[in-house]
Amino acid sequence: MSIYIDPDAVSRLRQYEMPGKLGFGRVIAPVMFRAVCQDGCWSRGELVPYTALSLDPAAKVLHYGQSCFEGLKAYRTPDDEVALFRPEKNAARMAYSAKRLCMSPVPESLFLDGVRTVALYCANLVPANSGESLYLRPFLMGTQADLTVSASASYMFYVIASPSEAYHAGNMRLWVERDDTRAAVGGTGDAKVGGNYAASLLSTGRLRERGYDQSLWLNPANRSSVDELSGMNFFAVMGEVLYTPALNGSILEGVTRASLIELARDRGYQVVEGEIHINELLKQVASGVCSEAFACGTAAIVSSISVIGDAGGSYRLSKAPGPVAQSLRQALLDIQEGRAEDRYGWMQLLGAITNI
Ligand SMILES: *Cc1c(COP(=O)(O)O)cnc(C)c1O
Repeated sequence: MSIYIDPDAVSRLRQYEMPGKLGFGRVIAPVMFRAVCQDGCWSRGELVPYTALSLDPAAKVLHYGQSCFEGLKAYRTPDDEVALFRPEKNAARMAYSAKRLCMSPVPESLFLDGVRTVALYCANLVPANSGESLYLRPFLMGTQADLTVSASASYMFYVIASPSEAYHAGNMRLWVERDDTRAAVGGTGDAKVGGNYAASLLSTGRLRERGYDQSLWLNPANRSSVDELSGMNFFAVMGEVLYTPALNGSILEGVTRASLIELARDRGYQVVEGEIHINELLKQVASGVCSEAFACGTAAIVSSISVIGDAGGSYRLSKAPGPVAQSLRQALLDIQEGRAEDRYGWMQLLGAITNI
């Protein structure tokens, strides 16, 4: 299906001036992609000026949480081309999240049309410094206007974009969350849904008061093995071996996690996906067996962990930033920004950046 390009969207882009200071996720591009679905039938996609949504107050998303989203980045290559990193992974994950919430999934072709159209038309908004990118945020919500608890018959799909600086979390201080859980077994932990984030905020607020940055979530069934962070996956380094929690239903399968596992194995590390018992891990940090740990996700790519705090004390990782985290981060960024050969076929080149 062809994509409708609203001439007003093009003129908004022509008039747009990038602010000097970007930050992460704060500056929003002046255009957006949208499509609607009624009873399983999708409209054609449109690129339109960015504007507030009009939503019926009875829309099911507002009451029953039928909402899911994605996050991916468009990069500028050394030849001034725009490239997306593994967008088909995000398309597949969004379809999975949608199905979990009984929503009409966005067809892969429509999802890819959306992210490609926004990235290409916003090509001049893709920042040029290393680590900077155009962060793309596709999202889907149920819009049928009635208060019965049932799946919506109508949906809206949008892609908005944010020219962003490198997301420098720096070294992170984690707090072991022993009380709350962010996701139940059999629940929505392995789907990228807004409710999981809402469930994490209270914990984050508490630990920030104690001087920590992020919760380290435990498995909701056993409360003793590590799952992940609120929006990033977890790795611990012991010698030449990388340990990461196996996908168990309550962990979100990160595209960054999967890519780092492949990169690490190709660089000679052994990567073990299994259970990491928190008390064991803390002992190994205390004894120095585990000298390095890091978290990974699209926004920050890789962030080293400097401290893991628990009711019994705080455990300092001796290497933060750690050498494994730093070299994997650089290797991934070199592929994403087109400096290293893409042996994996991860990048999708969209074409040259020209003035529209
Ligand atoms: C998005 C997300 C991640 C990271 O996924 P990427 O695809 O690497 O960005 C990890 N954990 C949770 C809970 C997430 O929502």
